[in-house]
Amino acid sequence: MPDVAVVGSGPNGLAAAATMARAGLNVHVYEAAETPGGGLRTSELMQPGHLHDVCSAVQPMALVSPFFRAFELSRRIELITPELSFGSPLDGGRAALAYQSLDRTAEGLGPDGAAYRRLMAPLVRRVNGVADFTLNQLLRIPHDPLAAVLFGLRTLEQGSTAWNARFRDDLAPALLTGVAAHSVGGLPSLAPAGAGLMLGTLAHAQGWPIPVGGSASIARAMIADIEAHGGTIETGRRIDSLRELPPAKATLLDVAPPALLRLAGNRLPAGYRRSLSTFRFGNAACKVDYILSGPVPWEAAGLADAGTVHVGGTRAEMAVAENAVAAGRHPERPYVLVSQPSRFDASRAPEGRHILWTYCHVPAGSTVDMAEAVTAQLERFAPGFRDLVVQVHVTSAAGLAEYNQNYVGGDFAAGLMDLRGLIQRPVINPVPWRTPLGGVYLCSSSTPPGPGVTGMPGFHAARYALKDIFGKSVPRLGL
Ligand SMILES: Cc1cc2nc3c(=O)[nH]c(=O)nc-3n(C[C@H](O)[C@H](O)[C@H](O)COP(=O)(O)OP(=O)(O)OC[C@H]3O[C@@H](n4cnc5c(N)ncnc54)[C@H](O)[C@@H]3O)c2cc1C
Repeated sequence: MPDVAVVGSGPNGLAAAATMARAGLNVHVYEAAETPGGGLRTSELMQPGHLHDVCSAVQPMALVSPFFRAFELSRRIELITPELSFGSPLDGGRAALAYQSLDRTAEGLGPDGAAYRRLMAPLVRRVNGVADFTLNQLLRIPHDPLAAVLFGLRTLEQGSTAWNARFRDDLAPALLTGVAAHSVGGLPSLAPAGAGLMLGTLAHAQGWPIPVGGSASIARAMIADIEAHGGTIETGRRIDSLRELPPAKATLLDVAPPALLRLAGNRLPAGYRRSLSTFRFGNAACKVDYILSGPVPWEAAGLADAGTVHVGGTRAEMAVAENAVAAGRHPERPYVLVSQPSRFDASRAPEGRHILWTYCHVPAGSTVDMAEAVTAQLERFAPGFRDLVVQVHVTSAAGLAEYNQNYVGGDFAAGLMDLRGLIQRPVINPVPWRTPLGGVYLCSSSTPPGPGVTGMPGFHAARYALKDIFGKSVPRLGL
């Protein structure tokens, strides 16, 4: 009989399992899919030797997350951090570029360089406070209140119609909106603004790393640690009821709220069941992966060296695309998130070949294949792109939901990311990881701090389970 059962082996299930195993407990992980990792899988989607990240690709939050810092991730796997974190192309061969160096970034933003620096520099200086505020327990006094205030005021500005007030040109606004739109939602609004400022701060403070060999190397490092401490992982084992699990003192669930309802059924009190059944999901993604016969021929100088490119044109154009999705439509000219890992990591594709990871936002549950719209956007800013395409692989939003039951309707954030969705995740409670069932904890990204490869929902859930049930504190997680 295990001390601890973990259902789901995404980064949060694995973070929970690693923390519990390190505390000397006997841990068993159940994973529905044939391979572990959840959003940390890398696969030969089309041809041998071409390694595509199925979900997450770029890992800025893994470097700053308190869990991964304690776990010493950067000593366990090789990470490549391009000096140019991200960029946004504009028509006419121009681009806004976010380097790790804030000075170099500001120099490239023409008349808005100083305004961009005034926006970002105070956050970059207090990066640990920003990370603490955004990645830790939300309903508590932040460790660095000034960082929280600076971040909050800037989020209010960039999340409102005042977002252009400090700028005169189109480069800095395009740069900021490109990163804000990682969070699915209408623009301007608070959650994307906050996500953008946090990710932008990380870009300048530490860069946006790409794991060598793909994101699965993070899952492999976590699994190696769990196994080294006696834990076991069982794949191809979907759990549909808590009754299927052998009795364990603690059960941690890396699942979305509808799955918790199914797993626990009538054992949950009515009020909690109501909160779970009314939990709101957001819009979704259509993933488009490419094999290319050469690097992307970006028209704008510099973009070839960017780890990530936000393709969507000006701030106003990206807002039109994102607001179409928010209104339930498929944008004609979508905002496209692009990562070009084989540009930096030769292990990802055979010599002469490149892979390209892209996705765009679509309405929840969409079955639409967005490959042509994404290719047209890439061709617009990289003439000749179409001629380099060797093969394309598309996963619609409905396909993502089928791939991973946590992505309800294709919502890869596992819950709507608006202000309410940040606070009520899935309930308004200072310890939302605890469920009303003794010994049962929710540890997926449907709990704070939400989506992204941070391990923090799993770490928080494990922290409380260790304290509540075993009377233990968090163990040492490092090498
Ligand atoms: C296309 C895409 C791109 C992304 N890009 C990035 C990025 O670049 N950077 C970033 O930080 N984040 C990115 N993300 C988000 C990130 O992948 C997720 O936020 C993260 O993986 C969530 O981790 P998790 O552990 O909560 O859940 P998941 O990673 O979703 O894992 C949950 C696991 O639990 C399993 N499971 C669920 N229910 C059961 C059950 N009943 N029984 C057994 N097993 C079960 C699932 O099969 C799955 O393996 C992306 C996501 C997608 C889809």
